Amino acid sequence: MVRGAMPPEDRWAWVEIDLDALRQNTAALRRSIARDARMMCVVKADAYGHGAVECAKTMRRAGADQFAVATVTEGIELREAGIGEPILILSEPPRETIPRIVQYDLMPALYESDFALELGECAAAANKVAGYHLAIDTGMTRIGVNWRDVVELRHAIDFHRGIECAGTFTHFATADVPGDWDYQMQVRRFNQAVGALEDAGFETGLVHCANTPATILHPEVHWDMCRVGVGLYGLHPTVVTRREVHLKPVMSVRGRITRVERPEVGTGVSYGATYRVPTPNIQICTVPIGYADGLSRTLSGNMDVLVNGERCRQVGRICMDQFMFEVNVNNIRAYRPTRAVEYGDIVTVLGTDGNEMISADDMATRRDTINYEVVCDFGLRLQKVYV
Ligand SMILES: *Cc1c(COP(=O)(O)O)cnc(C)c1O
Repeated sequence: MVRGAMPPEDRWAWVEIDLDALRQNTAALRRSIARDARMMCVVKADAYGHGAVECAKTMRRAGADQFAVATVTEGIELREAGIGEPILILSEPPRETIPRIVQYDLMPALYESDFALELGECAAAANKVAGYHLAIDTGMTRIGVNWRDVVELRHAIDFHRGIECAGTFTHFATADVPGDWDYQMQVRRFNQAVGALEDAGFETGLVHCANTPATILHPEVHWDMCRVGVGLYGLHPTVVTRREVHLKPVMSVRGRITRVERPEVGTGVSYGATYRVPTPNIQICTVPIGYADGLSRTLSGNMDVLVNGERCRQVGRICMDQFMFEVNVNNIRAYRPTRAVEYGDIVTVLGTDGNEMISADDMATRRDTINYEVVCDFGLRLQKVYV
């Protein structure tokens, strides 16, 4: 049985965020980072669907030194909630956002000289010096200045007194793959780029490159700071990190049964009637969670839910706002809850109920995606309840 859950009033569906698990994960990752290196907690995409403001407040108490987001709007949300730590925007935003970047003291990643100079002009006009982080492409081919061109870029922008390099970073494509050749190549290129900047006499600020897998698996690349994301939320980026650090999932998704029906044999369930009731004494139960809440329609007929500590099979197509599952009161099939369920019973879509658990990894495998996407999706519409 699920206890202590306080569902929101207007809808029987919610995301439960376990702030104690978040605190433990943050502290565990903090312990794996060298004492003199900093910890930047990545709270982009509303903290991977977990709620950026609440999560950031918990993380800062558990060891976060800085935060990272994807957009200027996400950075402003943290500032307006009173987060005073440095905030990095992980890619170069549109130039239109520069006045807000300066106003809210956000640090953009940058790699275009025009962006850098416009940032400098805006900051100087406000009697400020804007900190930025130089993004370097060492082989992922996503953002950043090419690793061979870092010195040239710095020569083109460093004369400006309105900007200051607060950091230099790159991002790995394959840090989760042990012994990977591309990873090693990226490390070599990053070392060379940082060395070239230092040789040319440029201030690099904090040098950083480690995401969650590199933080856990590759202490030799911690440099001045680690940028941890998915591990904070209790999810492993790969099976190999499981051996190294114990993490506890932070998000659960639950709802309550809004209707129980015992239809005649042959009755269709949901759009397209792709499922028909096969035997008597099958309860068909409705839960108000659908694909607009992040429960992917591709899971239709291919997922379980937990009720009263038992596993039940989801049936029929997942709708935009609801889905159905069956309880076989006959007790003769593979899925056989021993007791009938009732209107209002709590259903777990993601998380633990009794001895049973449905993990984001299970769901990701069934959806042919990664746990990151599973939790981001549940952040879409469901109300969050912090426990
Ligand atoms: C998302 C992101 C991270 C965090 O990655 P995890 O795998 O979740 O730890 C770090 N750095 C950059 C640039 C990112 O975009």
